[in-house]
Parts: sequence; C-alpha cells; structure tokens
Amino acid sequence: MAKKTKKSKARKAVKKPSRKPARRSAARKTSSRKSPDALLASIKGATSREIGGVRLDVASAGAARVKRMIYPPGFKWSSAMKSIVGTDRCMHAHVGFLARGEIHIEYADGCVVEYKAPQIVAIDPGHDGWVVGREPVILIEFDFEGETVSRLGMPTEHRH
Ligand SMILES: [Zn+2]
Repeated sequence: MAKKTKKSKARKAVKKPSRKPARRSAARKTSSRKSPDALLASIKGATSREIGGVRLDVASAGAARVKRMIYPPGFKWSSAMKSIVGTDRCMHAHVGFLARGEIHIEYADGCVVEYKAPQIVAIDPGHDGWVVGREPVILIEFDFEGETVSRLGMPTEHRH
C-alpha cells in the first residue's frame, strides 16, 4: 500500500512540471527570434533597395508589381524625395494597404487626408506626405510602373 502511494506520488511529481508547454513557449521564442516581424522581414523573391531613407521591396505579380514600402519616422516626401525626383510634389498614385503606422497627405489645393493602419489607401498624384508619429509606416502598394495611373483608374492629378 505504502509503496503504491509513493509510486503514484512520484509519477505525479514527474508529470507535474509538464515539459510540453515549456517546449512550446521555447519554440515560439526561437521562431520569433528568427523572424521577429513578418511585415519587416526580407521578402523571398523580391528586389530590395533604398531611396531617400525609404526601404522598398518589389516583385512582379501577374501584370502588376507589388511593393512593400517602409517609411521611417520623420520621413517627409518634400524633404527626402523632392530633390531626388525633381517634381514639386509626388506624382505617383499610391494604391494599396497601409499595414502599419500613420500618414498625412497634403494636396496642392490644400486638401488633407490622413490614413491610419489598417486602412486601404488610394492617394492621387500631386501630393506631399509624411509619417505621423514615431512608428515606421508600412505600405503595401500595387503598381504598373509607367501605366499605374491609367491601369488603376486613378486621376492624373488630384482634383475635384
Ligand atoms: Zn482637393
């Protein structure tokens, strides 16, 4: 009787520090170390470059291109890109998904649009824009290179 009781107690004692949850959490930690943030991680098959402090990863998908843009905190188009691009305002259409962060868009006529993730964006050509707050902005965009405006059905410039 006494022996049986001891054995069952011993078994319980061994089982109690159940290793499975510990292993699971360890595995989670390991995998999260390897890929801390899927939205920021390098993208298989994409071409990566940096322009004016903006990190850009791009790959073809059908006839379109899919781009992940990462704008750092403090980024402002007219300060960082204007001299590189040579136009007064950004003349690209930005259509896609704001996955993280907050952006402020100003058009030539004074119209202001603010987007905060998660949000679908459709920004007309002819804007200045900047990152709001301390969080980097992650924007997933679709484009057709030189035919982006026409193929996405966007206006050639912001108007009413
Ligand atoms: Zn307007």
